[in-house]
Parts: sequence; C-alpha cells; structure tokens
Amino acid sequence: MGGPITLFSKIIKGEIPCFEIAKGDTWLAFLDINPRRAGHTLVVPHEPVRYLAELSTNQLADLWQGVVKTQTKLSAYFNTSDFLIGIHDGSLAGQEVPHVHVHVIPRTENDGGRTLLACWPNTPSIGSTEPDFTTLASLQNEILLTNK
Ligand code: AMP
Repeated sequence: MGGPITLFSKIIKGEIPCFEIAKGDTWLAFLDINPRRAGHTLVVPHEPVRYLAELSTNQLADLWQGVVKTQTKLSAYFNTSDFLIGIHDGSLAGQEVPHVHVHVIPRTENDGGRTLLACWPNTPSIGSTEPDFTTLASLQNEILLTNK
C-alpha cells in the first residue's frame, strides 16, 4: 500500500480505531462516525487513491465484493435488502477524505432518508415532464465525439 497517508490508511493500519463490520484482503468496512442513519458504513480499499478510476480492475472488483459482503452483514441485522450506495468521487462531488470510499447505507420503511434526487432538489420530479430527447441525443454525440 503506497501513496499518501490518509485518515483511512491510518484506520486500515490500526493506528486509529474504528468500528469494523467486515474486511477482505484489500478492503475494510467500518461504521461512519457521523452516520446519516444507523448502520451507515464505509467500504475502503487499502490503496490510498482519491478517485475510483485510479484503482486497478482487480482492486475495483474486490471493492465491490466488499460492498456486497457488507450489505449481507447489514441486511441480517437491519432486516432489509435495500440500500443507498454512494461515492463522492472527488472534492467537487463532496469528497472530504481523499481516499476512495463507498458509503453503504441501509434503507428501511420511513427511515427519513431521501434519494439521489435530493442532491438536485430544484429539478422536476421524474415523470412530471417529457424527457428532452433532442438535448440528450446532442449531448451523447458530443461526449462520444470528444472521446474519439
Ligand atoms: P465523504 O464526504 O464521502 O468524503 O465522506 C467521508 C466520511 O468519513 C464522512 O461521512 C465522515 O463522517 C466519515 N469519517 C470521518 N472520519 C471518520 C472516522 N475516523 N471513522 C469513521 N468515519 C469517519
């Protein structure tokens, strides 16, 4: 595990305590100390990189396996199969700790949580307007052209 020393690297090395929920050879899952709701867990790869895209294919596969293993543990306790899974991938997206981490948040009836739509509360609710297919097609073209 090279790279910068992050808060999460210190937790992984055991230098800072955490409330561990699960672990694998290349990742650790522990409770978030500022939970959005009970059971809010972070799954963190050992590799201390900021962006998801900096992980190798194997590290990515391991990380998502870690997410699913963590879900299994939380499912048994919270008696739910439903989760909000989120990543703030970079500071503009809201990332506070510059070390990839997946937020795994159990969802249960009337838990007071919202959905991804809450990130952009001023957009129309889904189904309330016709999709703008012209704009979507033009954006698709531009994105694909940029990547040619
Ligand atoms: P993000 O905004 O995606 O970077 O999330 C960082 C998360 O790390 C926040 O939800 C914090 O509450 C959480 N956090 C910060 N320090 C610790 C810690 N020592 N143990 C567990 N979670 C932490």
